[in-house]
Amino acid sequence: MDGTLTQNDLSHVVEADKAHVWHHLVQHKQFETSDPKIIVEGKGMRVWDQTGREQLDAVSGAVWTVNVGYGRKSIVDAISEQLMKLNYYAGAAGSIPGALFAEKLIDKMPGMSRVYYCNSGSEANEKAFKMVRQIAHKRYGGKKHKILYRERDYHGTTIAALSAGGQEERNAQYGPFAPGFVSVPHCLEYRAGDQGWGDLSGEAYGQRAADAIEEVILREGPDTVGALCLEPVTAGGGVIVPPAGYWQRVQEICRKYDILLHIDEVVCGVGRTGTWFGYQHYGVEPDFVTMAKGVASGYAAIACCVTNERVFDLFKDDASDPMNYFRDISTFGGCTAGPAAALENMRIIEDEKLLENTTNMGEYMLGQLEALKDKHAVVGEARGKGLFLGAELVTDRTTREPMDEKRTAAVVAEVNKRGVIIGMTNRSIPGYNNTLCFAPALIATKDDIDQIVEAVDGALGTVF
Ligand code: PLP
Repeated sequence: MDGTLTQNDLSHVVEADKAHVWHHLVQHKQFETSDPKIIVEGKGMRVWDQTGREQLDAVSGAVWTVNVGYGRKSIVDAISEQLMKLNYYAGAAGSIPGALFAEKLIDKMPGMSRVYYCNSGSEANEKAFKMVRQIAHKRYGGKKHKILYRERDYHGTTIAALSAGGQEERNAQYGPFAPGFVSVPHCLEYRAGDQGWGDLSGEAYGQRAADAIEEVILREGPDTVGALCLEPVTAGGGVIVPPAGYWQRVQEICRKYDILLHIDEVVCGVGRTGTWFGYQHYGVEPDFVTMAKGVASGYAAIACCVTNERVFDLFKDDASDPMNYFRDISTFGGCTAGPAAALENMRIIEDEKLLENTTNMGEYMLGQLEALKDKHAVVGEARGKGLFLGAELVTDRTTREPMDEKRTAAVVAEVNKRGVIIGMTNRSIPGYNNTLCFAPALIATKDDIDQIVEAVDGALGTVF
């Protein structure tokens, strides 16, 4: 750990933090009496807190962001060189890293062509929503403006993004929301029994869940629906990997009713699932792809709303109308640190063959998590894609009664006592905060994964 900070300095940091920082995702009353945690340093997949304790971070910075791991000097150098040359310029002007990263990104996304820079996943999604609304006005007299989103999916924290939010924990008490957002049923096969569609599994379940989207479109009126926004693998809502056939059917439905397909890759994008983007597992052709977390692995704040030329073309049909362009700006979309970091981040993923590693290590980890089912009856299902995985806990495997949140949290705490940081999904549907969540950096080795799974094994043995 950083030897330049004395124990006195660190005690001061802890006091300042406790007195003045309004932390994310913390129960405020509990925070008053809980042990403070300041992460001081990171290297590879490991972090050190203010007490000098080393922990293996199996969630890449709490929220699945540090894809290439901590302490990457080459990214820091790329940022610093760029900032000395030009830190910022916004508006209509471009920048060298902005142009070069856009070119590199589009090279990984056949069929897509335009990159709109902003700062966060929520903002990237808002950009797409605004584009859909503007297209509705330009082309359909404002009518085709509705945006469909899915139960259990999450698209961000702002009011419009929450309006497209399918998670009770994130949404409750923040309404009223923006009009014109309509939910479609989730696609978690393990919880198919709750959806009243009978005993379906695999492809048949995927078809049914996709058909349910068509039913909503027909109910709302296809001429009112502008876009469908989905996560490729639902993240905080349960680490949900859709069954085979689901995405193909979704694409067919979108084409049939002329509905734009928006895929939210804020979590899955840039390697997390073993392909550059999650949707690339399923052969779909989106109109919008939004991304944030792994784009620069947390070394700089950068998010992108990427579109195809079909969408871009809709904004340039009448140059004589001064209102006929995307009338939007993101102040910090003009920071050059983001694309400079993102370029180097992408080079690392390519040169170190991290997509291949993610696929191989992901398969290994899924197998290890599945093996825990033989030892622990509370593990109902292990699932995931690449290095994004979940283990859903139940009190009874036959009835699939979800494990209560307290005991799921106790497992997370026990794992942490064993020197490993994991997470859990949120109360997307009340009573279902029962899935352990893993998203180690894409550099994870077999030894790292063994350490994570051993800690989970030990924790399950202690709690149950
Ligand atoms: N979309 C998904 C799928 C997310 O998981 C998140 C955040 O976790 C967001 C969007 C919002 O991103 P941000 O927190 O950068 O606004």
